[in-house]
Amino acid sequence: MHINFSRFNSLIALVDYFNTEDKCKAAIAQQRWGDGEAVCPYCGHTHTYSCTDGRYSCPNCHKKFSVTVGTIFENTKVSLRKWFMAMYMVSSTKKGVSSHQLARDLGVTQKTMWFMLHKIRGLYGITDEIELDGEVEMDEMYLGGRETNKHDSKRTEGTQGRSIKTKTPIFGMLQRDGKVVAMKVEDTKGATLMPIVGQFVKEGTVTYTDEASIYNKLTENGYDHLFVNHGKREFVRSSDIHTNGIEGFWAHFKRVIFSTYHCVSKDYLPRYIDEQMYRWNTREEKSSYRFHDMFSKACKHFDYNDVLSLSSVVDTEYRTFHNRVYYAWYSHQVA
Ligand SMILES: [Zn+2]
Repeated sequence: MHINFSRFNSLIALVDYFNTEDKCKAAIAQQRWGDGEAVCPYCGHTHTYSCTDGRYSCPNCHKKFSVTVGTIFENTKVSLRKWFMAMYMVSSTKKGVSSHQLARDLGVTQKTMWFMLHKIRGLYGITDEIELDGEVEMDEMYLGGRETNKHDSKRTEGTQGRSIKTKTPIFGMLQRDGKVVAMKVEDTKGATLMPIVGQFVKEGTVTYTDEASIYNKLTENGYDHLFVNHGKREFVRSSDIHTNGIEGFWAHFKRVIFSTYHCVSKDYLPRYIDEQMYRWNTREEKSSYRFHDMFSKACKHFDYNDVLSLSSVVDTEYRTFHNRVYYAWYSHQVA
């Protein structure tokens, strides 16, 4: 049996095909092991036996295992069919979908759906090497602590504009007609940002920024650098010199965060950044492609020590994304 994922171009096509748990398990087995025998997740032995209970047995280490061990589906009490549907809906919507809505649609409790969604979102992230070139726009966004809305006594001195005393900066790089890379950064000093640019943007690329001094070293670092002077209300100096692309990404990101998710806890904000980045970077792809991509990530062996302990999940997952940084979410206001 070989499943052609391109057939799943609609939710109904997916639901029609995956009408039993066994079909879901077969899809996971195919994704993990291809047409070969099940590989023991404990010792890597490749000659294993199928048991009558649907599990597998390893003659080398004498352990039994199921097809879901080590995947995000391990030990789940929710049917795989519901998992597949949830993943399809998350991957196919433009703006994301809330746990409340999905819980109603799939007939599980909101709490259960919340756990499922956080595992699904954990599949996103910069795991592949991305290299931007051609024309790349760069900009920072500051989240949290809108000082002008606070009472005088609660304001912090010098927190306007680029100050990060009460705000958390996100740095973004967007290739025109290409991909975007965004991440939380410790601060927006040139010394912090230039190594990140060096990692993701090819030398010689034409870069567009605003006039901030943090971008002064781009030329020195081998990039063509053109900038627009926002301070002088000179938003578009020539038709090409602008940062409208990355600003559009920030605007979209803020809309999704505040319309779909309403409130986001500080621990999970990196996942929402990853999710929106992923949506942007796959915007030209079909729903069937996005589902298959997510499904293949879901079937990868995760090193979860405690699957249900979300704090440990965040720790182990994010430690592996070497350029991902923890996001501190200070308030629900966007500066
Ligand atoms: Zn084994």
